[in-house]
Amino acid sequence: MLTVNETFYSLEGEGPYIGIPTFFIRLTGCNLRCEWCDTKYSYSGGEQRTVESLIDETMGYETKYVCITGGEPLLQKDVYKLMYKLLENERRIILETSGSISIEDVPTEDDLIIAMDIKTPSSKMVEYNLYNNIEMLGMKDYLKFVIADEKDFEFSKEIMKKYEFDGEIIFQPVGGMDLKWLAEKVLKEKLNVRVLPQLHKIIWGDRRGV
Ligand code: SF4
Repeated sequence: MLTVNETFYSLEGEGPYIGIPTFFIRLTGCNLRCEWCDTKYSYSGGEQRTVESLIDETMGYETKYVCITGGEPLLQKDVYKLMYKLLENERRIILETSGSISIEDVPTEDDLIIAMDIKTPSSKMVEYNLYNNIEMLGMKDYLKFVIADEKDFEFSKEIMKKYEFDGEIIFQPVGGMDLKWLAEKVLKEKLNVRVLPQLHKIIWGDRRGV
């Protein structure tokens, strides 16, 4: 059984799969309280759902892509059952996690992409980053830094240098839309990262269910 905050069908709004029609399963609950969190409604509420009912709902959509998000989805133990069942049903999963919970038990199949945050200073949650998670990521996975200011930018550079992750690294501005400052910094410093917005906010604004 899982506590599900909401399910919806939309376009993937972040990361390398941006723009792809995707079915979203947002699980309730988070162990962090990021300063700029844009899904505070996911901290509580929602309804109890069986894994089977979520699979049935997912299979009603043509898309191969399913995003499991939160909150922090790895807090609920049945999320593992959900992931394995989705893989059995040939779905491609994007698992969004805060980087504060170990990913050691997450399936390593190619069709499960881990989208892992490293919390930056502006989140006020840096002490919860589990850096040894980075070593467990594969080339199919990606790291995301949400950047608010110069301090976050310098911190992100330091982490990249220290942990040398070879996969894709995303720099995303806080709020998801104000890209110019970040884009120009990345180009000036010749960083090998990808600067991306939050597409759903550009299309629909800052509201839930999209
Ligand atoms: S980890 Fe995500 S859901 Fe949790 S507080 Fe931070 S931004 Fe919000």
